[in-house]
Amino acid sequence: MNDYHIDTFSTSGDSIDDSESDGVIVVGAGLGGLAAAIRLQATGHDVTLIEARERVGGRAYQLQDAGFTFDMGPTLITAPHLLRDLWTLAGRNLDDDVDLVPLSPAYRIYFSDGRHFDYGMGAEQDEEEVAKFEPQDVQGLRDFLAVTEQIYERAFDDLAGKPFNKLSTFLGAIPQLARLRADRSVYNLVSRYFRDPNLRMVFSFHPLFIGGNPLRASAIYSMVPYLERQHGVHFAMGGMYSVVSAMEQLFRDLGGQVIVNSPVDEILVNKGRVAGVKTRNGGEHLAGTVVANSDVMRTQLELLPPRYQRRGMKRRLDGYRHSMSCFLLYLGVNRQYAQLKHHTIVMPPDYKKLLRQLFDEDGLPTDLAFYLHAPSKTDPSMAPEGCESLYVLVPVPHLGHGIDWQREAEPFRNRIIRTLEEKVGLDGLEASIVTEHRFTPRDFAYDLGSWLGSAFSVEPTLFQSAYFRQHNRSDEVDGLYFVGAGTHPGAGIPGVLLSAEVTSGMVNREHPPMGPSAPPRVSTQVEEEKSDLPHMETVWHS
Ligand SMILES: Cc1cc2nc3c(=O)[nH]c(=O)nc-3n(C[C@H](O)[C@H](O)[C@H](O)COP(=O)(O)OP(=O)(O)OC[C@H]3O[C@@H](n4cnc5c(N)ncnc54)[C@H](O)[C@@H]3O)c2cc1C
Repeated sequence: MNDYHIDTFSTSGDSIDDSESDGVIVVGAGLGGLAAAIRLQATGHDVTLIEARERVGGRAYQLQDAGFTFDMGPTLITAPHLLRDLWTLAGRNLDDDVDLVPLSPAYRIYFSDGRHFDYGMGAEQDEEEVAKFEPQDVQGLRDFLAVTEQIYERAFDDLAGKPFNKLSTFLGAIPQLARLRADRSVYNLVSRYFRDPNLRMVFSFHPLFIGGNPLRASAIYSMVPYLERQHGVHFAMGGMYSVVSAMEQLFRDLGGQVIVNSPVDEILVNKGRVAGVKTRNGGEHLAGTVVANSDVMRTQLELLPPRYQRRGMKRRLDGYRHSMSCFLLYLGVNRQYAQLKHHTIVMPPDYKKLLRQLFDEDGLPTDLAFYLHAPSKTDPSMAPEGCESLYVLVPVPHLGHGIDWQREAEPFRNRIIRTLEEKVGLDGLEASIVTEHRFTPRDFAYDLGSWLGSAFSVEPTLFQSAYFRQHNRSDEVDGLYFVGAGTHPGAGIPGVLLSAEVTSGMVNREHPPMGPSAPPRVSTQVEEEKSDLPHMETVWHS
């Protein structure tokens, strides 16, 4: 049973005519799709956003049940200036629509010996925390932040916002990448500045937030602690979905159209040029430009007509390594846990072993790591009084690693609850659950159309980044573009907002808006079709 609260959006009543159109269709309304749609609509295109699910948001979905509100995917905002840029481009002010609050500490991080590190409380307090573990690492922290400041300035400002469709652009960036020692891993770089093994985890785990393995993600990704120091870690009051809703409203206010419950089954191509899309109910929406926010693998291997899947494309796509997946529990509990902060991370006893098991080995990991989100610590409206809305994320291998989730989900869930009770000290957790839902790697695959059920798309490694990542413009079909986690620069909210900037910039250069134009043409009437994709598994406690 699909038991979570749904506000079904109407289709903005698109009355469709038959005239030719220079309109843009964005397939998929994740944060990247929404941001691209806003940017393109704000710069003069007629944009129609077509989403498979009942609501927009993609991974940033929301679940409401029994008075509890859960963000289902992203929870932390690390580069709010990118959202501000989007609002500014649309002639509006983010603060009028979204209430962002900085968190301190940004995270509490527990280690298997029971100690914890409160991270992200400002320069002085961070140094005090480091000194508790290893006084000599205080200087290491200063040096680490100095070097990652340089990485941030080069990588975030110069590389991430640039299209990397041409080999020449990549070759031009090589001296820069060499200077940044992009060939080293994050863990390798961090280990040069910190002696203490716990501190090495604290300052190297961030690639996991975008599906990267700290042992092989390029040292470029070690800039995240610097980014967090500069811009803070924020929570959007009401949860991440308040950002999604505000983006949807912004897009509609600009005149954009949203169609939900309409999985796109085919990208229409005519003589090598994109012509529009066909949805599952047979509706054909014609458009001169299509921006795909759907999974990059599925878009090319399943939505494009086979004759446009040029030789070498499948081999290139098959060669990608994919990020790990996640097993998520959303627990409404009738008590509160003082040892949890808004964001709490629980490190595994053997970090490197877990990373190997997550990325390279088959089967379930033998030890677990957790990320716990307790937003009611900051926003009491997220749970009934005296209760906690608790989101438990456990990273697990993707579906290519031979785990039968239909069989394993229930015992794995029991193992998680037991571990949280026994090792993390969440006493009486099982008994205090009022409502419970879960999202497994199968749901990433079936509900979100994610290749191998990966949570963050293509794994961010040096040779799967920039030129080597899916280009923001198709090499096969003119007028087809990509936006979102699988394309440059990559996953995470900052990554997909930047990808929207890169992609919309390319569209504007290559297919500028042609003045007032008709909305995309459709051959059947307005759609509100029911997706037949399987729904997330849910479990009730009453
Ligand atoms: C559990 C989890 C926690 C995370 N936490 C954070 C965090 O705290 N901070 C952070 O910065 N990042 C976080 N991330 C990463 C971040 O959420 C994602 O990288 C980002 O939201 C992905 O956005 P996207 O634009 O690629 O689209 P997605 O969210 O992948 O959305 C794609 C959309 O396309 C739709 N679609 C797919 N196929 C079709 C089709 N054929 N027709 C029509 N529509 C289609 C889907 O239904 C979906 O709505 C997290 C990710 C996960 C999974």
